[in-house]
Amino acid sequence: MSLDDNLKAARGYLARFAENTTGHFIGGAFHLPEAADTFDNLTPVDNTSLGRVVAGTAADVDAACAAAQAAFADWRDMPGAARKKLLNHFADRVVARADEIAMVESMDCGQPIRFMRQAAVRGAENFRFFADKAPEAGNGLALYQDAHTNYTMRVPVGPVGIITPWNTPFMLATWKIAPALAAGCTVVHKPAELSPLSAMLLAEIADEAGIPPGVWNTVNGMGEVAGRRLTEHPAIRAVALVGESATGSHIMRQAADTLKRVHFELGGKNPVVVFDDADFDRALDAVVFMIYSLNGQRCTSSSRLLVQSGIAARFMQALEERVANIRVGHPLDPATEVGPLVSRDHCDKVTSYFDVARADGARIAVGGARRDDLGDGNYVAPTLFADATNQMRIAREEIFGPVLTAMRFETEAEALALANDTPYGLAGYVWTKDVGRTMRLARSMDAGMLWFNSENNRNLPSPFGGMKASGIGRDGGDYSFDFYMETKNVCIAHDAHNVPVLGR
Ligand code: NAD
Repeated sequence: MSLDDNLKAARGYLARFAENTTGHFIGGAFHLPEAADTFDNLTPVDNTSLGRVVAGTAADVDAACAAAQAAFADWRDMPGAARKKLLNHFADRVVARADEIAMVESMDCGQPIRFMRQAAVRGAENFRFFADKAPEAGNGLALYQDAHTNYTMRVPVGPVGIITPWNTPFMLATWKIAPALAAGCTVVHKPAELSPLSAMLLAEIADEAGIPPGVWNTVNGMGEVAGRRLTEHPAIRAVALVGESATGSHIMRQAADTLKRVHFELGGKNPVVVFDDADFDRALDAVVFMIYSLNGQRCTSSSRLLVQSGIAARFMQALEERVANIRVGHPLDPATEVGPLVSRDHCDKVTSYFDVARADGARIAVGGARRDDLGDGNYVAPTLFADATNQMRIAREEIFGPVLTAMRFETEAEALALANDTPYGLAGYVWTKDVGRTMRLARSMDAGMLWFNSENNRNLPSPFGGMKASGIGRDGGDYSFDFYMETKNVCIAHDAHNVPVLGR
């Protein structure tokens, strides 16, 4: 489909958001509070409004939490096989609406349509994966002793709050909500205010799929108001956040009084280390892909390149040519590789690092400017900072845009020290043919996830999450159930042991 075809289709899908204010989904009903405050939801394409959205209040969140609490016992007690069926049905409905989801998402958050088509399908896969695990989520272990048998079981923690960011909103919401529902928790979802539309499509699909009222609730609004109340509400037993590290700190404080369990997937400044013995072409492809795909607005992006001195000159030259060639454009253009950044503020933040780089003495090898020729959208030229050091701000702070900071190293020990010299610890990537080095670095690099000779290959049962300022907890497979469920131990005597006697 051409850009024109996609634009026509997207206009059709977006018309209702332009005509009607987007509200909440609470207790199985779409809800627009009377006299509510609203805000404009701007598209990154040209900063015009896609429609108005309700800024949820504490009272709106309270209503959603009450609905989630009321629905909890029935959802918890529904047989796992029945939850499995419903959640698989939900996934079928996502696939049926994949085109609409992809178009709406591209226009709302600026991600190129080539990636958003996959994101909708990935969202459905997230649901199928956890749906199939629902019947056995409560299973535990049997632990025998001579005179007692212990066995464990898991039960859902209760209603949970799920707070998501704007970078890939649809996919991330499904990644968090699917295991919570499969576990038997009810959910109040607070999507990011900068990209609320696909969350409403999810709520509609939940309704269509027959998920019972109150099991899935969505409240729109600002983090400091709606998000905050959700983290403070006494009925909410656990909060899962995907967002910035500073937001994780806020939520930890906000959730302290009600002693909530927290799960944080936060920021990163992930290194990709390319050794002299790497497969040059594959490493080059992966380095480019892992920072410039998804507009560089990706938590696992490899935003720091460490390249060994023996190949550095040749690698940097090839990299410069590739980065200069990346196609920036309208997110609905199938040829576009980098689209507009999510908001004007975020674009200002990303471009502010161009001056920071110059002031700190790095060389702007490619890019370093806005793409004003593309209109009023938040377009930025893919940028490569060369000759950087790890002490520069461009090497330490998460820029979260199509911007790569490159530096050289001489030895494995130096590469390891540079890779770990960061407050973050989400992901790391290494390119080398040396197996011993692979094993050494796997042990000593500070990151929750490491890829050797690969870009970001995902496997749903594998643990996903970060160390240090990049997060607390893991998602994926059983790791997700461990967060959304309580493990109980049951100890039963064989009536063979001596019970201690007092006062007989
Ligand atoms: P953000 O932290 O600004 O916002 C995330 C969500 O938190 C939004 O819904 C927001 O409204 C809400 N929020 C903000 N303040 C809150 C508060 N005080 N209480 C409750 N909720 C609050 O993040 P963002 O700018 O939307 O997203 C980008 C960030 O997300 C980046 O740092 C990125 O690395 C991170 N991210 C991490 C992962 C991961 O898996 N580690 C994945 C994607 C994005």
